[in-house]
Amino acid sequence: MPEQKYPMTVDGKDVHAGDTFGVCNPATGQVFAQAPDCSPAQLDDALRAAADAFPLWRDDISARRSILLAAAARIEECTEELATLLTLEQGKPLADAQFEIQVVALILRSTATLDVPREVILDDDDQRIEVLHQPVGVVAAITPWNVPLALAAMKYAPALLAGNTVVLKPSPFTPLSSLALGAVLRDVLPPGVLNVISGRDPLGAQLAEHTVTRKVSFTGSVATGKRVAAAAAPDLKRITLELGGNDAAILLDDFDLDTHVDRLFWGAFANCGQVCAAVKRVYVPRGRYTEVVDALADRARSVEVGDGMRPGVQMGPLANAPQFDRVQELVAEALAGGATAAAGGRRLDGDGYFFEPTILRDLDDGVRIVDEEQFGPALPVIPYDDVEDALARANRTHFGLDGSVWSADPERAAVLAARLECGTSWVNTHAMPTPGVPFGGHKWSGIGVAGGLAGLLSYTETKVLHVVRG
Ligand code: NAD
Repeated sequence: MPEQKYPMTVDGKDVHAGDTFGVCNPATGQVFAQAPDCSPAQLDDALRAAADAFPLWRDDISARRSILLAAAARIEECTEELATLLTLEQGKPLADAQFEIQVVALILRSTATLDVPREVILDDDDQRIEVLHQPVGVVAAITPWNVPLALAAMKYAPALLAGNTVVLKPSPFTPLSSLALGAVLRDVLPPGVLNVISGRDPLGAQLAEHTVTRKVSFTGSVATGKRVAAAAAPDLKRITLELGGNDAAILLDDFDLDTHVDRLFWGAFANCGQVCAAVKRVYVPRGRYTEVVDALADRARSVEVGDGMRPGVQMGPLANAPQFDRVQELVAEALAGGATAAAGGRRLDGDGYFFEPTILRDLDDGVRIVDEEQFGPALPVIPYDDVEDALARANRTHFGLDGSVWSADPERAAVLAARLECGTSWVNTHAMPTPGVPFGGHKWSGIGVAGGLAGLLSYTETKVLHVVRG
């Protein structure tokens, strides 16, 4: 079967590139489609199209709101096409991919309810002082491969509502669903308002430093986020960085195992552990250590792992070869250093990037899988003797995305959760971003927030209009 090619969307039209690159299905390890490798001239065209569309698009927020609502409906109509591509290129179970499309529609609708505020500070006979929020211009939206469509929506929905125009560049591992989205949205968005291009990593760098780009909204790793910040600096482009994490979950001595263990497990293993805001290490009171490890290991062994296109599968493969290699390496290193696999611990036989859901015990801070972001289906569980020490270890990291505290007494847990150094602290849950609520990281996990009014305003410049009468 010939590999299918997917065009880019520039100025509302199909654009094919001279070069293409292969997109791999992680369930088979085989290339199944080709994506355009955007040339520098085509990048210029995309940015020019966005710049040309900006003056008209920025004018009328009620029109933009209606268009976002129409976009949500159009995306829902195309759920099957988009979700299938997402599963084929990313690996997640089809039901999860379909859910991601619903989340996209929810993000668009929830964003459409927001208003760009206009605050009158003073209005008397002599003068009027107002604070306005005006769009920045052309926004570069750069996304990773784990949740490509929802993370893209968290960027273009507020950027567009605020009156900006956008060039979206998805990860080279998962370009197809975003390319398909660009084609689908041509039915509702004016040409040039949302351009979707694809290419390898250097394209992200070119987009981030291009003179037409006025803001870079980036989601991805800490290492790349720092490069984006450096690339944006000479031109003082605005940036939002949504970066990696190493979220700790601290269980208190009264942790309610029966009620909460499933939520804790899926807080770590949803999307095959490839969630920025997943539980990435668990601290457990020593007296309850074995009981908790055993319960998590039971859950791990019960998970149906397989090709996301197969009905009933709960966990797909790792999304790409580098991530598969990294998770194998981190787990092997922990096991070689004395950790025990209470469940899993190895790759599954076959061609795809499948790894057993893994619970690691008998390890401590100082092991890479505890100290670094593993971003995969392997969870270290660490005993503690003193809860203050557990908190200190949770905070002893450059990361600061999220964290959680678990207890039968939620208010007791909330006191400790407030002391976690991170953008979101949960109690008795984890990885539960909610539309309309700001989401972002402290320390190296990011700059700025997405979601809610704060997220919307990050796509604007603050402007004062000061009128002196007479
Ligand atoms: P990555 O940093 O390798 O790539 C992210 C995107 O940046 C891709 O589109 C890539 O092509 C592009 N890129 C690469 N080099 C670039 C450069 N120099 N300039 C501009 N763009 C460049 O990250 P990844 O491996 O795709 O994603 C996994 C990471 O993303 C994890 O660390 C995860 O925690 C993080 N993440 C964070 C959030 C959040 O909201 N905080 C959400 C999802 C994922």
